Amino acid sequence: MSPESPPAVADGISPLIFERSRPGRRAWSLPALDVPAAPGGAIPAALRRRAAPRLPEVSERDLVAHYTRLSRRNYGVDAGFYPLGSCTMKYNPKLAEDAAALPGFRRVHPLQPESQVQGALQLLVELEAALREITGMAAVTFQPAAGAHGELTGLLMMRAWHESRGDSRRRVIIPDSAHGTNPASVRLAGYEVAEVPSDSRGLVDIPALERLAGPDVAGLMITNPNTLGLFEQNIESVARIVHAAGGLLYYDGANFNAIIGHCRPGDMGFDIVHLNLHKTFATPHGGGGPGSGPLAVSERLAPFLPGPRPALDPSSGRYHWAPVGERSIGRVHTFGGNFGVVVRASAYVRALGPEGLRRVSEMAVLNANYLAARLRGTFDLAYPGQPMHEFVLSARRQKARGARAMDIAKRLIDHGVHPPTVYFPLVVEEAMMVEPTETESRETLDAFADAMLAVDREIDSDPEALYLAPHTTPVSRPDEARAARLPILRFTPGE
Ligand SMILES: *Cc1c(COP(=O)(O)O)cnc(C)c1O
Repeated sequence: MSPESPPAVADGISPLIFERSRPGRRAWSLPALDVPAAPGGAIPAALRRRAAPRLPEVSERDLVAHYTRLSRRNYGVDAGFYPLGSCTMKYNPKLAEDAAALPGFRRVHPLQPESQVQGALQLLVELEAALREITGMAAVTFQPAAGAHGELTGLLMMRAWHESRGDSRRRVIIPDSAHGTNPASVRLAGYEVAEVPSDSRGLVDIPALERLAGPDVAGLMITNPNTLGLFEQNIESVARIVHAAGGLLYYDGANFNAIIGHCRPGDMGFDIVHLNLHKTFATPHGGGGPGSGPLAVSERLAPFLPGPRPALDPSSGRYHWAPVGERSIGRVHTFGGNFGVVVRASAYVRALGPEGLRRVSEMAVLNANYLAARLRGTFDLAYPGQPMHEFVLSARRQKARGARAMDIAKRLIDHGVHPPTVYFPLVVEEAMMVEPTETESRETLDAFADAMLAVDREIDSDPEALYLAPHTTPVSRPDEARAARLPILRFTPGE
């Protein structure tokens, strides 16, 4: 580092904790032993390290300051607006956290005797009933640990169902706007992807679907509203065409935030549905933490669900794990799935009730439409239809004036918001996908719209500021090609 640019002291990145290290400094202090030390130490000699690990040597005070500074560099849903399209990064009420932290829920173990976990089993059985009602399906499993895991589980059930009828099919139809996990899950489940194009409105091209649907099609996987934020107006025709060809319908429920309490995949004709509890139902999403992708299925698929499943014995009033049926595809996780996430969802559903859940989707759709209305004069809406809970802009006009979606996204960071999703869905040029969610106030939405419009004006007035953004972060813009080709993965002092 050149002498002209000394490391900033408190930007949270430098100095690194290794640079703060001084030999002999310790972050703990304990009184001297007042009992004899175990001879040779408590750990057998053969298992002991020969050399000390190369950890930074710092005082407790510096250690705490280091991690506190780092935590302040973290941008999350609790810190501000996070309109990351497709991800539903909404504020999660702390009530749900309190419920998940109750010792009776936090400390249970899946192998504990049923008599000791009656409350946990009851919670699973009752939330299953709520999700059946919300989705319009017949049975639910909480085992899948995320949306993608639910997809794989559902596709394995789709395969088991066809095979139980002596039918082996090869392909699963997916719209070209689909989330990347859909085709990946289809491949993992041993199927081939048949891609159906979107029409000029951004909806499934019905004639193209009719041509694809045939005796080798195991099913169709679709999100509704789709990944462009548009409600599939022809969903009943889609269901009819796929069912007539002998296929099943899989509903990717990651966009459930848009329709909860207003319409149900079961009524649209779907056979298999996954929900992302970590998007719609009160668990923070992102950061790789645990998720939950419960799967809800129609009557004819229920025997194939993973097991064991929680059940109530009406005669004794006791809850238990029902034995795994012989057509079950087996287990895909521990019995209750990621139980803490399930507890949060249960608290959320109970706190809001049916009316509150309906309001969730109303506000999510209203907020997205408000923002779309404020931005559509300046940015192009990718499709003319009315958006649901999210919408996709195309920065093609901005690109013609010299700024790409990526430049705009980077500059938004200086305005204190997390940028929207960019360059997805792939079918939209210079895509910027905005999902404000229901939890944001009118003032927050206006501040975001103002920031987007200010950045747009800057393309002409101060393009340099735009290309070099962000200016307010410790690291500005990594060279993306170098970061991919020549990543520096190791700290070297002095570099
Ligand atoms: C998030 C998302 C998924 C995948 O869910 P994960 O829980 O991240 O595995 C699938 N489909 C759509 C449309 C999504 O938005």
